[in-house]
Amino acid sequence: MVTAHLLGFPRIGFNRELKFTLESYWNHRTPETKELLFKTRKEICLKTWKMQKLLRLDFLTVGDFSFYDHVLSTLCGLGGLPKRYGFNVKSPSIDNYFDAARGNSNFRAMDLKKWFNTNYHYLVPEYTSGMEFHAEFPWLLEEIELAKTLQHPIKVCMLGPASLLWLGKEYGGLVNRIEVLPRLLEAYKRVLMNIKFKGVEWVQLEEPIASFNLPAIWRRALSTTYEQLSSCSPRILFTSYYAFPNEMYSFLKSLPVDGFHFDITNNVSINLLESYPSDKVLSVGIVSGRDVWKNDLKRSIHRVERLRSKIRSELWVSTSCPLLHVPCDLSTEGRISESLKRKLSFGVQKIQEAVAIKEHLTNQNSNIATSVLVKETHFNPRVGFYTEELENECCFKRLSYLDRIKLQKNISKHLIFPTTTVGSFPQTEHIRKIRSQFKKGNLTQKEYITTLKTEVSFIIKKQAVYGLDVFVHGEVERNDMVEYFGELVEGFMITENGWIQSFGSRCTKPPIVFKDLSFIRPITVYWTRYAQGLTNKPVKGMVTGPMTILNWSFLRKTQTIQEMSLQIASVLRKEVNLLENHGTRIVQIDEPAIREGLPLLYENWNQYLSWSVKAFHIVSSGVSASTQIHTHLCYSEFGEIVDTLVKLDTDVISIEAARSNMVLLEPFKECGFTNEIGPGVYDIHSPMIPSVEEVLLRIKYITTSISKERVWVNPDCGLKTRTWSQVDSSLSNMVKAAKIARLQEPSV
Ligand code: GLN
Ligand code: ZN
Repeated sequence: MVTAHLLGFPRIGFNRELKFTLESYWNHRTPETKELLFKTRKEICLKTWKMQKLLRLDFLTVGDFSFYDHVLSTLCGLGGLPKRYGFNVKSPSIDNYFDAARGNSNFRAMDLKKWFNTNYHYLVPEYTSGMEFHAEFPWLLEEIELAKTLQHPIKVCMLGPASLLWLGKEYGGLVNRIEVLPRLLEAYKRVLMNIKFKGVEWVQLEEPIASFNLPAIWRRALSTTYEQLSSCSPRILFTSYYAFPNEMYSFLKSLPVDGFHFDITNNVSINLLESYPSDKVLSVGIVSGRDVWKNDLKRSIHRVERLRSKIRSELWVSTSCPLLHVPCDLSTEGRISESLKRKLSFGVQKIQEAVAIKEHLTNQNSNIATSVLVKETHFNPRVGFYTEELENECCFKRLSYLDRIKLQKNISKHLIFPTTTVGSFPQTEHIRKIRSQFKKGNLTQKEYITTLKTEVSFIIKKQAVYGLDVFVHGEVERNDMVEYFGELVEGFMITENGWIQSFGSRCTKPPIVFKDLSFIRPITVYWTRYAQGLTNKPVKGMVTGPMTILNWSFLRKTQTIQEMSLQIASVLRKEVNLLENHGTRIVQIDEPAIREGLPLLYENWNQYLSWSVKAFHIVSSGVSASTQIHTHLCYSEFGEIVDTLVKLDTDVISIEAARSNMVLLEPFKECGFTNEIGPGVYDIHSPMIPSVEEVLLRIKYITTSISKERVWVNPDCGLKTRTWSQVDSSLSNMVKAAKIARLQEPSV
């Protein structure tokens, strides 16, 4: 007997229903929109469970739904929301939950952080000393009741205590969050007992931290956790994912649980599992939950058969991880060609693959012959600008910064504290409507371009009014900084409905790399030139960087990320060179997601980071030394990779710093960074308007670490999510502050 099960399905809904009802609730806050929100959750859950039953999975997986983020939901379910929001943490309401996620007028939101090596983001739990957990996870218990109506075995999934604790941070004087573990376990015990009372046989406790090589104290935390939980819980499937826990395997095996799930994609050797204990269930994640490619079913079946001949345990098959990171369903895709579709697999299809493997192993008769394996044309080294030269580092060196700066003097160097923005301006309802009408064919290309021109000239006029020194065109033509490039570079496929949740209602539609990437047409030149034609101030060209494009796309399986990074970098090099040819004197190469591709294991970081630097240099080094190269980074803590950022050797780097109180400045100083830097002087994620005094204080503070000739003044990210009235006040104040700062620090 082999069992097929699912670790979790996307919760956003087949048509992003959750996103739309969330936003309507946040905008209106009426009893009707609240009711709709709960109704949507019920519909999404029922629809996914019915599908699971129909596809012949052996369990319905319950507990993967979340209104915003599963880390927050687990914390809230246990009664662990931060006290500072001032509500009763024992019985938090949905509004309390959203306040913690998004902030309210009195308190900022909880911190948001990248989830392992994915593009999903979670809310960071805050642990305080003496923290108690009282709640009883009512939402989960309700979902179990609802699932029971479908009369199919249920497996409940939950984030495990050790990971929940690891992912959080100490707060308000707590020294080590491990101290909180005993009380957290009491809460888990209560909840697990309740789940058991409901007649649930299996609970999947997810401990993705098991793929790290954990220090002894955290291994002990895992032992304590599972020793305590095993007695009062349904049978426990200890679930690790995102990588096989090589280093931890022998340790994990000794934990008193009823089974393990391991990710065995990426050619994990079956031999590693030879000594697997016969009294525990072994669940293997053999269908990748991280890519969109069809599984090689023959090979998978062969691997599981070999595994079966080596071990005596009960075997389950599944996807490698919850399907949070892939779109829901391929069958409804209209845009993708049939030939490409035959190679792809989204959420529903991945379930079918797991079931096909199980059924073949059980009755040897499922029709796997029809499965199309991914056979692709191989990497063509001569595509784009890719030549042998790309192997040679020295072809991509610019003159030294000190030599470049002399040639760039005339751009903005006549003053200190030059002011600029990061690229986008408000993406108003109107702009979004125009874009969608054009897409639907309700607007001709001519009408579309005329409308966008009006928008760009409006943005140029605004920047003149604020008194900024370096302008941007505003990115009105871009729905998304990666998708836009995906649409214009050969080799990417843009899906119609392939949405992935980033967090809350925020979704992205990652392009799919399906063949060699090559340059076919200019991407940004038209709008940059148009904007430059409207002003004498320099307009910065805006190019999305190579690693950000790749990290926010689905990549090919038949190529290494290194090969793909060389291809996309060659395309972008051509684009940057073209911008220069058309008179652009400043180009910003955005790399906000450079950190997102970091491998899980620290020992693999260096290799990734050195490709990233190389790819960046390929893009940035084709222009003359007098062209100023900027980059922009945000979303993460860069402390650990500051030396890589220094190696990018851009003339100017703008970086998110306002929210983290400029903690980044110190590492930059220590790394001996000599080039120019624009640490964001206010947080664009907040609707608050920074006062002139506040910005001035920040500028002053920056100059305590960075010499004034090297400081740029800019917000900490693009302004596309802000309203015009917020932008008007914020940027005017920012420019005023820079002017005052200049007067106080006479020019050099
Ligand atoms: N240039 C982009 C913008 O302003 C940068 C976005 C980002 O950093 N995520 O929107
Ligand atoms: Zn940013």
